[in-house]
Order: sequence, then structure tokens, then C-alpha cells
Amino acid sequence: YQLLVSFPEKKKFIFSDLIAIAMLSLIFTLIIIIAYSNALNQLFKQRQISEIKTDFINNMTHEFKTPIATINLALDAIKNPKVIEDKEKVHRYLQMIRDENKRMHAQVENVLRISKLEKRELEINKEPLDVNEIINDAIDHVSLIVEDREGTIKKHFQANRTTVLLNDVHFTNVFVNILDNAVKYSPEKPIIDIYTENIKDFLIIKIKDHGAGMSKVAQKRIFEKFYREHTGDIHNVKGHGLGLAYVKRIVEEHNGQISVESEKGKGSTFILKLPLIN
Ligand code: ADP
Repeated sequence: YQLLVSFPEKKKFIFSDLIAIAMLSLIFTLIIIIAYSNALNQLFKQRQISEIKTDFINNMTHEFKTPIATINLALDAIKNPKVIEDKEKVHRYLQMIRDENKRMHAQVENVLRISKLEKRELEINKEPLDVNEIINDAIDHVSLIVEDREGTIKKHFQANRTTVLLNDVHFTNVFVNILDNAVKYSPEKPIIDIYTENIKDFLIIKIKDHGAGMSKVAQKRIFEKFYREHTGDIHNVKGHGLGLAYVKRIVEEHNGQISVESEKGKGSTFILKLPLIN
């Protein structure tokens, strides 16, 4: 006897049988790859955050150590019987203690301010104000440090309309922070230019320095909390990486925008765009 069996659709049958398994294994492989890269990504992010935290704690302690040491020394000096008789010296030491205390207070305020802003506890009352005046105020605040570094701040105010709905205290802080950075991150004498102009119903303010500049990666991240560009020595320029995060939040609270253009070694320009009052 001979049994003949024919499979007219043998190939199709095998293929359709296999395709389901092949598809399934492909999907599972994809899931494994995605999960693995996700885990790696998270790990990388966590490491970055922990690095940023360590930097922040290092900088904070570093900045508190100096005033605490100065206050200690001043107190020891006052305790000295020879000094305590001398009113003038006591007065000088007390002034030193007060100044250092003020500095520490300012540091703490800086950190608190950003956390309040996060929780939306910060009161921001706005009123129509002339931005030129606010910029001039901010320049007055930093003029001493600019003079100390033999730098200059030049104004090129070309905007005709400069009234914006804003909170004067917070906005003065915004300009002070940007100007302060321009000085801090200028290794040579700080040369700063401030430009204003009107484009449509907006006021554009550009603050340009000729300092250290920053990399493309840093430009994308400087407005994040605690971000500081890694240079060889982190204590080279002191800071907490909070200034620009605060600046961005305040500018956004005023329906404005902030961006930065920069080139490593050539300098940076911070550009603010604020809506004008009609
Ligand atoms: P801080 O100055 O306290 O580190 P900021 O939030 O003010 O924090 O700035 C974040 C980072 O952005 C700085 O650490 C620095 O790397 C970079 N940066 C800010 N302003 C400038 C500038 N004018 N030139 C070069 N780098 C800058």
C-alpha cells in the first residue's frame, strides 16, 4: 500500500505557525530592551542628581564655614581683656559679626525663597512700573562689586515703551542675579552691556557679558534648580545653582520668557522678553 499525502499550502502553514512565535519573541525582546534602557537612564539621572546634591552641600558648607569662623574669631578677640576696653575695636568686631551674620542670612533666604516659590507661597503683587528704573536699581546693587573688579556696565536703552506689570522687589532680584553672574563668571575684568528694545508689544532686554561663556549642554540646563556647570574646581566660583532657577520662575510668573545665547570663552547674553502694558 502506498499512502500519499499532499500539503498544497505547506509553506503558508509553517509560516503562519511561526510568525506568531516570531512576533511574540520580537515584542518581548523589544520590551526587554526598552525596560533595560529605561533603567539605565534612571540610574544615570539618579547619579547626576546625587552629584548635584553633593556639590550643593559642599558649596553650602563652604560658604557657611567662612562666616562662622570669622564670627568665632571676632568673639574670641572681643573676649580678650585688652580689646574689651577699647570701644573702637569692639565696635569694629561687632560690625564684622553683623556683616557676616547678614551674609549667612542672605544665603538662607536664597534657599528659602526658591522653596517658597515652588510651593507657590511667595506673594507676587504686580504694578505698572518702568523697567529702566528697575534695571538702574539693580545696577546700583552690583556697582560696588563691578568697581572692585575694575569692570564696567554700559546701558544701551533703546526701547521707547518700558512700562511692564511687575513686582519691583522680585524683578530687581532677577536683574541683580543675572548681573551678579555676569561678574562672577568673568575671569577678566567684567564688561557688561545692557540693551533694551521694543518688538511689537514686547520689551526685549539683553544682558551681555564677555566672560567665560558656557557649553551647549550647560545652556540647556542652567535654569534647572541646583545645576552648575562642572569646571575643574567647583569652589572656583561660589554659588548654589539656584539663582537662575529663581530668575526663570519669576520671569514666567510675569508671563515673560528668558533664554540664553553663549559661546564658551567668548561670553553670554541673557535675553528677557516681557509683555508691555498698552
Ligand atoms: P550659581 O551662580 O549660584 O551657580 P545660577 O543658577 O545663578 O547658580 O547659575 C547656574 C550656572 O549657570 C552657573 O553655575 C554657571 O555655570 C552658569 N552661568 C550662569 N550665568 C553665567 C554667565 N553669565 N556666564 C557663564 N556661565 C554662567
